[in-house]
Amino acid sequence: MKCPKCNSNFEQVNTPFGDVERCLNCKGLWFDMLEDEDLKDIADGIDVGDPEIGKKYNETGDINCPVCPNSKMLKMVDAKQPHIWFESCPTCFGRFFDAGEFKDLSENTISDFIKRFSIKERK
Ligand SMILES: [Zn+2]
Ligand SMILES: [Zn+2]
Repeated sequence: MKCPKCNSNFEQVNTPFGDVERCLNCKGLWFDMLEDEDLKDIADGIDVGDPEIGKKYNETGDINCPVCPNSKMLKMVDAKQPHIWFESCPTCFGRFFDAGEFKDLSENTISDFIKRFSIKERK
């Protein structure tokens, strides 16, 4: 499968909570249906891309699903954080997040607040 934004290959990132595909070039993330829910707690370790690059690719709107042939992905907005746009496939329900978006999204949760705090303490 190829990245729907920049047409590069994905690498598989294995985590104790499930696997995720990450683009080798733009570091965008691909999640199969509902996988993103399980992986929010470790978003810092998965979403390692540069948010500035992610922002650039976020402007690329009309993309097709990398899994389903000829399925156009829909732009979705997170209800709690409306500045975050991500793409969702209406057929397989996979989701694509640009670099930085998944981390941003997950920072809304309490567990991530604690995690950020502990990272600061270590410096
Ligand atoms: Zn890419
Ligand atoms: Zn799909």
